[in-house]
Parts: sequence; C-alpha cells; structure tokens
Amino acid sequence: MSRHPALRHHQVVDGELLLGGRPVRAWVEGHGTPLYLYDRQLIAQRVAELRTVLPSGLSLHYAIKANPMPEVVQHMAQLVDGLDVASAAELALARGAGFSGTQISFAGPGKRDEELEQAIRAGVIVVLESEGELRRLLEIAQRLCERPPVALRINPAFRLRASGLHMGGGPSPFGIDEERVPSLLQEIAQLPLELVGLHVFAGSQNLSAEHLIASQAAIFALLQRLLPYFPGDLRWLNIGGGLGIPYFPGDQPLDLAPISEALAGHQRALRRQAPECELVMELGRFLVGEAGVYVARVVDRKLSRGKTFLVTDGGLHQHLAATGNLGQVLRRNFPIVAPQRMDEPYTERVNIVGPLCTPLDVLANDIEMPHLDAGDLIAVLQSGAYGLSASPLGFLGHPTPVELLVPMT
Ligand SMILES: *Cc1c(COP(=O)(O)O)cnc(C)c1O
Repeated sequence: MSRHPALRHHQVVDGELLLGGRPVRAWVEGHGTPLYLYDRQLIAQRVAELRTVLPSGLSLHYAIKANPMPEVVQHMAQLVDGLDVASAAELALARGAGFSGTQISFAGPGKRDEELEQAIRAGVIVVLESEGELRRLLEIAQRLCERPPVALRINPAFRLRASGLHMGGGPSPFGIDEERVPSLLQEIAQLPLELVGLHVFAGSQNLSAEHLIASQAAIFALLQRLLPYFPGDLRWLNIGGGLGIPYFPGDQPLDLAPISEALAGHQRALRRQAPECELVMELGRFLVGEAGVYVARVVDRKLSRGKTFLVTDGGLHQHLAATGNLGQVLRRNFPIVAPQRMDEPYTERVNIVGPLCTPLDVLANDIEMPHLDAGDLIAVLQSGAYGLSASPLGFLGHPTPVELLVPMT
C-alpha cells in the first residue's frame, strides 16, 4: 500500500504510530480498546493552516455535529470564531464552551418549540428552515417579549453533484426554496424579528477545488438575486463549507489556495455591497476528521475458505462510517494501519470485521496489512469526524469506548 495522505499529519517513531507524542499502544495501555483518540495539536494546526490560507476577515465556525465530545468543543472554542449547533444539547455544549449570542447559529430542520425557546433565551441566531418554523418562532418570541436574531436558510435553485454544479435544485427538508425567499423577506420585514442574514449549505465532503469554487460562485450569484429584496442591512452570510478530507484510495487532499483566491474576490464584492456583513464559513469534518483515530484490538484471526478474517473488538456500533454504512453508496475501505507495526511490510490481504452478528460489520474488505494476530492493534485513520456520535452505540450492547483528546506535546 502506498502511504495514505492521512499519514502526512502523523508521526511514526520506531515503527509505532504516535498521537499526542506517545505511541498509540501507550494510550491503549491506559484506557483499553476500543478507543477514540483525537489529537489536540493536529486540530489546532488545521485551524491555523486554514487561517493562513483563507482570506482574512472570514469567520470560521465549527459545526459541532462533526465531533461533539465536550473537550473537543472546548478546545475548538479557543480556535474558531463561532459554533454551529443543531440541537438543544449542542446549544448547551456551545454555551458551556464559552460562546454566547450571535457567535452561535442554530440550524437544522424540525427544531422543537422547547429548542426554539432555548435558542431565543440564549440570543443565538436561529437559522430558519421553513415558513412553519418561522411562525412557531414568532409565536414563542412574542410570548417571551423578545425580538430574536434570525437568518433564512435557502434551498438554492442549483445543486452540487459529484459531476459538478447542476442548476435546478430539488425538493429538500433543508432550507426555504429560493423562489419563495423574496416574498418571505418582504414579509419578515414587517415582523418583530431581527433578520440578520442568510445561510446556504451546498454539501459535504467535497474534494474538488473546482466544484467548491463553482458552488461558492453560485452562492454569491444567488445572493445577488436576493439582496434587492433583503430588508435593511445584510449583517451575516453563512456560505457553508463542504471541504472534504481524503479517505479512500486515490483521494487527494484539497488544494485550498485557488478556493481561497476565488473567495477573496467574492469577499471584496460583498464588502462593497454590505460593508457590515460578517462572512462565515462553517466546517466540521475538515477541522477534526484527520485528527482522530479509532483503535481496536484483534480478538480472533480465522481462515475461511481461503480468506483471512481479523475479528476486532471495534466495529459498526462505534464507527458506522468506517463500515460504509453512513450514507455511502459504495463501501470502500477507510485507511487502516497497524499502529505497532508501521515499518513492517504489507504481506497479506485480509478482511477486518467487527464483533456484531451482521454482515454489515466490515471495517476493511480485502485490505493489505502486515501479519496480525489476536492481541494486535489496528487503527482506523480519518476518524475524528462523524465517528462515535454518528454510530448506533446501543446495537448489540457492547460497552461504549473511551474518547480521549490527547494533549499537546
Ligand atoms: C453537517 C453540517 C455542517 C458540517 O459539514 P462538514 O461536511 O462536516 O463540514 C455544516 N453546516 C451544516 C448546516 C451542516 O448540517
């Protein structure tokens, strides 16, 4: 196997994979397996790199759902300009991390009345996903005698697909159809709400700079269509993010420079039209994904009709994404290494599976590895985002793995 691009961030010393300056093995000795390790320093570095390349003045937000571990959120709070939440629990995490008011935005369909009430009381930007949500928010705000800051999430008339940008957006539970937004903006102007801005989220896990640039151009073109209808000054524009990380063979890390250059042009134009407007990019996976590894131990090695199976104590119940069951169309192998045998040759092809009684519990299919036996460790790279919290932990009733945010070295 050629070196996976994920390994460019990680140190290997004496054949051992390090996290936070210590061998993965050492963390396992203290905490057992399965184990999620998130590297503090890698997260900080990632944000710093992004800040270096992105245009200055751009606000960087962290979307908590990518990794809601409280220590991660707290660490992130030192690094970014704001947090995006999508539930009352995430709102509480964001506030616990020291953020307040309009540094927090609350998006997501189906916000319950209690959640809307908590959002209003916290003074966060409520990102409205439908006209119905607008009515409910208004009622609650009037009952509380508040005039909450709100933004409209737009379901654009274009779609970003793997093959590029398609005009003609589809129906969606997310956001308000673009064609209905002009009249809604005029209506909101008459309501006791503080309309601060607009939000567009055009997709996730994009590894094509060209597509991201096209998508951002389409968002700013959309803004041009809507700005004439916007009552008052536009003060907040959240353009989503969607920056991807390399998972699968052939994936290359994103080239941020051209994206940043294009964005700087849009930012200059925006400053002419709406000088007070905060331009926000919200990212989840890109900030934390590469900083995490999921470590499991081989419990059994068995041969079945010519194929070698390594059965581990970790699997689908704790890392659904790595088994290809979190919305992937085609199951492909996440990068997996043997953290104690980083210098050993890849001598065999194996299937790595979890302990669940379902054929879906596959961590790797026909992957090249060094020879591993029961007791050896495996580490799934690129596991810092949409890992534990995006997995069906209760399925089969295995214990919940420990998560560690490993210190700076
Ligand atoms: C999930 C989500 C994000 C984060 O997406 P990533 O692909 O992890 O960067 C950002 N904004 C919204 C509205 C989301 O739903």
